Amino acid sequence: MSVAPSSSLRLGDRFARELPELAVPWRGEDAPDPRLLVLNEQLAGDLGLDAAALRDDLGLLLGTTVPSEARPVAQAYAGHQFGGYSPRLGDGRALLLGELSDADGALRDLHLKGSGRTPFARGGDGRAAVGPMLREYVVSEAMHALGVPSTRALAVVATGRAVQRETVLPGAVLARVASSHLRVGSFQYARASGDVDLLRRLADHAIARHHPAAAAAQHPHLALYDAVVAAQAGLVAQWMLIGFVHGVMNTDNMTISGETIDYGPCAFLDAYDPAVVFSSIDEGGRYAYRNQPAAAQWNLARLAEAMLPLLHDDEERAIADAVEVLETFTGRYQEAWAGGVWAKLGLDGPVDRGLVAELLALLESGHADWTSFFRGLAAAARGDAEPVRGRVLDLPAFDDWLARWRERDPDPRAMDRVNPVYVPRNHLVEEALAAATAGDLEPLHELLEAVLRPFEARPGLERYADPAPDDFGRYRTFCGT
Ligand code: AMP
Ligand code: MG
Repeated sequence: MSVAPSSSLRLGDRFARELPELAVPWRGEDAPDPRLLVLNEQLAGDLGLDAAALRDDLGLLLGTTVPSEARPVAQAYAGHQFGGYSPRLGDGRALLLGELSDADGALRDLHLKGSGRTPFARGGDGRAAVGPMLREYVVSEAMHALGVPSTRALAVVATGRAVQRETVLPGAVLARVASSHLRVGSFQYARASGDVDLLRRLADHAIARHHPAAAAAQHPHLALYDAVVAAQAGLVAQWMLIGFVHGVMNTDNMTISGETIDYGPCAFLDAYDPAVVFSSIDEGGRYAYRNQPAAAQWNLARLAEAMLPLLHDDEERAIADAVEVLETFTGRYQEAWAGGVWAKLGLDGPVDRGLVAELLALLESGHADWTSFFRGLAAAARGDAEPVRGRVLDLPAFDDWLARWRERDPDPRAMDRVNPVYVPRNHLVEEALAAATAGDLEPLHELLEAVLRPFEARPGLERYADPAPDDFGRYRTFCGT
């Protein structure tokens, strides 16, 4: 592996050092004709990275040229995919380059996706295409701007290599930043190894990096589990409030940190439909919009199973303790969701459940666009209800609802702080990715401009706030990423 000679960049190897059983030393594959497509200069700055140096030598962003002390590794993990267990998944086309310290001194993983085959690649080619990597860039940065915990995107580099999918596509590598890449599937892998010491080191590593308060608890590993349950309940509530459908909530795609990860077949609600599924491979609707809280809780049950040997020597007691914590998920989720809905409605106290349920029924029957309805509702609080009245069908019922809501004196300015104008709408993402794949990055940059400041309506960006045109049809996403 070539080494960056004069780089001042320091990449830590804490994961590889503390958990060598989960780390296979590896490197990125060379790219025939690398070209930087997009670089997140702000994030680079926050991480103390020199943007000019990153542009100058793309080797770091490809995993081929790394600082001398760095130890890039492919990470091992297992996972339940659509309910079926795979004991060995791991980074088939990804690399953890190492850890950086952010401005607060916290560790952040610098990770690549699409950097070539690893020992976990199975039948895969180890590569990724420009479109899906740019999709992850746009959507993960939009999620961050929306205030939803998420992995971040640092850069996308086109490799100059053709990638075979349904068609031949240009290849790319995404550089991603996360507070870590520990997953529920990491614990499943450690548990399945039968090595309880490894499982304990993994849990202690997770506590140190993500949930340090658990270290002081009477039972740190149970406190870790509790902290993950809390983080995920809050995260999924945020997804539901902004209308995000992850699409592939397998246990290998659920983090211990509580950050959203892996933007494959994800999509945003347009017309409100609780049963909506966008992913073409999710035939049973397992990860439909409304099923996301239950899917998260199911995954957390798998985490509990993996952690059992740490929870108590007596397995019966371990199970009872875990179940007690797992059962808090529903209440925590509902509390986060209800508080979020009150905020979306501009109300600061508890809202009668009936009022919320009635509104959701009106949105569903009217196929109302989720994002623009809530943003438009602030205008109704200011006195102009026409924009939102135009989005529902049953006007007498809606007028009655509006009157009861207005009695509660909603605060439109507070609403504008939580109801985005711009989300990465499916038709706009598709448009930007198609153009970028054909070589035109302009639509991508315009889309980024809108979604990176999602709460600020700006002239000239109206089409980024509008629902999909009628002829966009039913949106499908594909996992062939
Ligand atoms: P995902 O559904 O993207 O989270 O990936 C699930 C598993 O498949 C992970 O172990 C990935 O590393 C692996 N994988 C996905 N695509 C590829 C590919 N093109 N080459 C090798 N492994 C892949
Ligand atoms: Mg994944």
